[in-house]
Amino acid sequence: MRRILSGHGASRGSALGRARVRLPHALDVAEERIDASLVDAEVERLHTAIAVVRSEMHTLRDRLHGALAHEVGEFLDLHALLLDDPELLAGLDQLIRTGRYAADYALRLQRDRIASVFSGMDDAYLRSRIDDIDQVVGRIHAALHRRDAELQGVAGDILVTDNISPSDLAQLHAQGVMAVVTASGSPLSHSAILARSLHVPLVIGAAHVLQKVNDGDVLAVDGGSGLVILEPNADDLREHRARVQLHTRERKQLHRLRREPTRTLDGVDIKLWANAESREDVAEAHALGAAGVGLYRTEFLFMHRPADLRRTVPDEEEQFRAYRDLVLGMTGRTVTIRTLDIGADKADESGLALTGEPNPALGLRGVRLSLSRTDLFRTQLRAILRASAYGPVRVLVPMVSGREEMIAVRTLMTDVQRELRREGSAIADAVPLGAMIEVPSAAIALPSFIGATDFLSIGTNDLVQYLLAADRNNEALGDLYSPLHPAVLRLLHTVMRTARARGKPVAVCGEVAGDPLFAPVLLALGLEEFSLHPGTLLELRRAVRGFDLSALRARAPALLRARDRVGIERWLAKSGE
Ligand code: PEP
Ligand code: MG
Repeated sequence: MRRILSGHGASRGSALGRARVRLPHALDVAEERIDASLVDAEVERLHTAIAVVRSEMHTLRDRLHGALAHEVGEFLDLHALLLDDPELLAGLDQLIRTGRYAADYALRLQRDRIASVFSGMDDAYLRSRIDDIDQVVGRIHAALHRRDAELQGVAGDILVTDNISPSDLAQLHAQGVMAVVTASGSPLSHSAILARSLHVPLVIGAAHVLQKVNDGDVLAVDGGSGLVILEPNADDLREHRARVQLHTRERKQLHRLRREPTRTLDGVDIKLWANAESREDVAEAHALGAAGVGLYRTEFLFMHRPADLRRTVPDEEEQFRAYRDLVLGMTGRTVTIRTLDIGADKADESGLALTGEPNPALGLRGVRLSLSRTDLFRTQLRAILRASAYGPVRVLVPMVSGREEMIAVRTLMTDVQRELRREGSAIADAVPLGAMIEVPSAAIALPSFIGATDFLSIGTNDLVQYLLAADRNNEALGDLYSPLHPAVLRLLHTVMRTARARGKPVAVCGEVAGDPLFAPVLLALGLEEFSLHPGTLLELRRAVRGFDLSALRARAPALLRARDRVGIERWLAKSGE
């Protein structure tokens, strides 16, 4: 029977296909005991399943690259840690051996035990980690029943599930899933951001979808409006086809923009840089006409080491080769290489960052770590400067909090430049040095150290988290972690005004730079350089080409007067009229 279920459209695109329902991970397994003679075999069955999951996660990890590795990697690492957790494993073995429970039931008992400890915690963030436990336990359970088929063979299907992790989404995308519908989740979650950059249609928060949809039901999903139609009728099918045609036409039109300028209606050229780490990103950025690479996150060279090189750091030659290839890949367009931004908050296999920092996002990360390990920092600067002999390079410093750090980096870099010239190494005459503006103190105190910088790049991912005291990785915070806050807009405006007054180029390189819906805000506030994942570059170009910059700027005072999110959204709605 035809039914309409509605949720929130979190990633545009339409899909028509059969539903593949994946029930929530909370295991509904009945108590089952086994004979003493079967205990060893049951323990082995469990360990085989765990090994399967571990290897699946490693394979997935190795296949991820670029921004995807960044978004998904942290979750995968956390899940890998849980999988190796001795408490989880020993508890399971013991339940099978002494309780003589079947592996499934042991898994359920152990899950409930751990979950009850977490749910008793005061900390909402820790409580929300139950989701991670459920995802890991769910994977083991699926492997026990060879239900890895659950996530495999979804090509051409629409996955219906309670919630989706970024790692599952990446896996499903690789397998050719058509669309995903979830019963819960937030449009600001990492999974939603990821779905948009992978172009996987996603509807989230479709209440009761798990109760109403059965495996094999036909669904028409619209990731734009959030509508999910169960057993669509002839009219629905016609509408779906029209939407698909529209979408295909749109993508074709977008494709035509790859050689067009990013010019506003009133003739102002806006610079689009790419955030690129992998060869594929670099090739795509180049093909789509990116001005250059605005953000190359070097920590990936340090974090995703092959198994035999774990806990080693890349030496000067290895780094030099990676940076040189990046520079060569952009054939003369400028490449912005960010120095190491590793810390206990990022999944770190290098052993460089302190472990167990009580407050890792506020800990020894980014430039703080680099300045405390000048041996490593000099090596990195040598490698970057040597790559500058092959094409234009800029150096970008992460997590700057004020003047002292910028001066210290400038001094060190000048010294390394002299050293390389003394040795006879080829390096560029000038390598601009820039600061990431992502710590509120740097944004506020910018006039005091802007003279020590050649350019700026605003990292809104962190700036929003530090300004609003809202963890960027905590989905439980929902709307709280959002750039649509008057304090964020005012700070962005101040930074852009200061940069313009001092003639320093300024870009935004956080996620918001790739969101066409947010573009009018950034343009109105004075931004003329965006750095974004190549996957959304053409959409942003199209959006920019539809705006009259002077009209938007004339409305900037109204934007800055907005008192809350609703006011900002109202301003945005008028920009689209
Ligand atoms: C940012 O903070 O906005 C940023 C681009 O850096 P990262 O996401 O690597 O912290
Ligand atoms: Mg950052």
